[in-house]
Amino acid sequence: MKQNGMCLASQDGFGQVYDCGSCGNIHVCVGPVSLSLSPPAYLDLVAMLSTSAANFEMWMEHRKTLESDREMPGYGVD
Ligand SMILES: [Zn+2]
Repeated sequence: MKQNGMCLASQDGFGQVYDCGSCGNIHVCVGPVSLSLSPPAYLDLVAMLSTSAANFEMWMEHRKTLESDREMPGYGVD
């Protein structure tokens, strides 16, 4: 009895996420990097990446603020 795999997502030239249908893991491939994760570990990864994306947005805003502070008169090397 052969199970069928399922592509869960893919982006040309970047990577893909799929269930091969035989080992029970979710495969996450980005470039040359390939992770095989159990379904709970895969969901943990998704949650972690989602949290990191939200924190990344806040971090980028914070960095912009720091950079604009540096551009204010009285700051920086000029
Ligand atoms: Zn597999």
